Order: sequence, then C-alpha cells, then structure tokens
Amino acid sequence: ILLEGTSNTLIVERPMDTPNKLAVIVPCYNETAVLNVTNERLCALLDDMVDMGIVDPESLILYVNDGSRDATWEMICELHAANKRVRGICLANNVGHQNALVAGLTVALDMCDMAVTIDADLQDDENAIKEMVMKCDEGYDIIYGVRRRREHDTAFKRTTAQVFYRLMHAMGTQTIYNHADFRLMTKRAIRSLLSYKERNLFLRGLVPTIGYKSAMVYYDRTERLAGESKYPLSKMLNLAVDGITSFSIKPIRLITVLGMVFVGISLGVLCWIAYCNLIGQVVRGWSSLMLSIWFCTGCVLIALGIVGEYVGKTYMEAKKRPRFIIQDEI
Ligand code: UDP
Ligand code: MG
Repeated sequence: ILLEGTSNTLIVERPMDTPNKLAVIVPCYNETAVLNVTNERLCALLDDMVDMGIVDPESLILYVNDGSRDATWEMICELHAANKRVRGICLANNVGHQNALVAGLTVALDMCDMAVTIDADLQDDENAIKEMVMKCDEGYDIIYGVRRRREHDTAFKRTTAQVFYRLMHAMGTQTIYNHADFRLMTKRAIRSLLSYKERNLFLRGLVPTIGYKSAMVYYDRTERLAGESKYPLSKMLNLAVDGITSFSIKPIRLITVLGMVFVGISLGVLCWIAYCNLIGQVVRGWSSLMLSIWFCTGCVLIALGIVGEYVGKTYMEAKKRPRFIIQDEI
C-alpha cells in the first residue's frame, strides 16, 4: 500500500511476485495499410513476453482510432474479434496524435500497471519494449525510447527535427534528444501526466516535468511499414509551435529586448536629426523613410503575432474543452 503525494489516495499495488500488466497503446489515423502487420508483430511480442514471464498474461494492445476516414476502425473490430487481447477505442473526431495518446492513456489507466505508447507504423522498434519492461522492473517509472540513428528518415525530416530540438533547447524546454512518443510509463506516472489539464499538448516536453526515476532505451528507427506519413509539414509546424509556446515565455521576453533595442536606435536617430538641424541640412531621402516604415511595421506585426499566440492559447485553455470524446469501446 502506497500513500501518494498530495492526492491522499490509497493505491493497493499488485503483489510483488506477479508480473506487471502491460498495455501497448497505438494511435491510428488512416492506418489500414499497416494495421494487420503491426498487430501480428505486437501480438507476437506480447505472447513472447508472457512466455518469458515478464508481463501478465492479461496484457493487451489498445488501438486508438483517431477519427480515421478509411476502414481503420472496422479493421480494429475484426482484430478484436479474432484476439481478445486486442482492444480499441474509436474517437468521434480527428483530435491529432498527442490527444489520441492521452485518450489511450486515460482508458488504459484502469486496465494496466504500465503502458507503452508506440506509433502504428512500427518505425520505432517494438522489440525495445522488452528492455523497457525490464527497466520498469528495476524500479524506473518512465522509460524513454531514444533513436540511435535515423538514416531511414528523409534528409528533410532529419534536418527539420534537428532544428526543432535545438530551438526547443534554446527556448528552455526540457526534451530528450531524439525521443518522440515511444515510451513506457507506470500507472502512477500516467496518473500524474493525466493530472496536467492543458489542451495544447506536447507530451515529450510534459513527461520530463513529471519527475520520477527515468531511464532510456536505445533503438534503431526504421522505415514506415507501408502507407504514408500522417505528419505533413503543417502538422509538424503546429507541433513545433505548441512545443515552444506551451512551455516557454522567452518569445515574449525577446519582444521586450527588441523594444529596448529600438528605443536605443531611436535615441541615436534623435541625435542625428539634432546634428543635421544644427548644420542646416534637413532634407531627408524618401527611400530611407519608406524603408523604415516597412521595417518597423513588419516588426510590430511579428511582435503582435507572437503575443497573439499566447493570447490564443489562454483563450483555448479557458474554454476547458474535452481533449477527446470516445465514441465506441471494445
Ligand atoms: N496519428 C494520429 N492522428 C493524427 C496523425 C497521426 O493518431 O492526426 C498517428 C499515426 O497513425 C501514427 C502516429 O500518429 O501511429 C505517428 O504518425 P506518422 O508515423 O505518420 O508520423 P511520422 O512518423 O511520419 O512523424
Ligand atoms: Mg511514422
């Protein structure tokens, strides 16, 4: 029996000798092309781990259908009919990868002692889950899957990802380099994560702020099994903007700094004007004037845009909308 932090809830933990019950959470958005192979591989892995005695025989796979427009949900239902280890939830709408993960974690919380989240295309090596489970037995609460190399990603994806991690770091958000959303969390870590009520989710920034003992497991990232990436540039940019503005107020500070620089420049200009007046040379060029107008207006607009980003976030958070709505459950 364990008394948790400030919440005063009594949790009866499992007896020490039975292995942990694992839930593998897989978000799926239009994934008919990969689902059968993915399911085969994940089921084989679970069977293997049950045989090894490192997870409970009742361990399960939970597919989260994120409002797919193809037959993904029908496929999940078929997989469930064929194998009771397969469970699924169907979200009524496409809420995006991060919210789909939270939906999966929320539902899995009552069904497992620990949960792994992994993408449906199995670009992350599912065999690393074994090592994660063993680390969990050693007493770690959060185990991050970290990509050793990513030569199978396109050069574009690699460079944008690198720029993104650097930018995040410069802005002061704690992230684990080359870790995405492939991780194992124990029940209490999941419960803590779910107590974060924000809507603009960037899980790989949030999870490290929970605390708890964490470890890393390294793996090689492979190519997508089939189908195409569900993360077009627009979604990647959205995630990057969320990642920075949900965690850092540095952009606002930059505006202040920029404002100070501008004030400094204007003081210099004032001296220059005074000097020109003194020597009687007051005719000014039209081009420099126009240039200043455009430049200053541009800066003001950028500044407004950044402030607007935060105001927009406050607005979204104030609404306290549900992050997902579950339509069906099997
Ligand atoms: N995904 C989702 N909702 C979305 C977009 C993606 O649930 O709106 C899922 C997708 O099915 C996959 C995971 O998020 O399981 C990662 O997507 P993908 O592999 O396409 O991204 P990439 O690896 O190209 O970054
Ligand atoms: Mg992928």
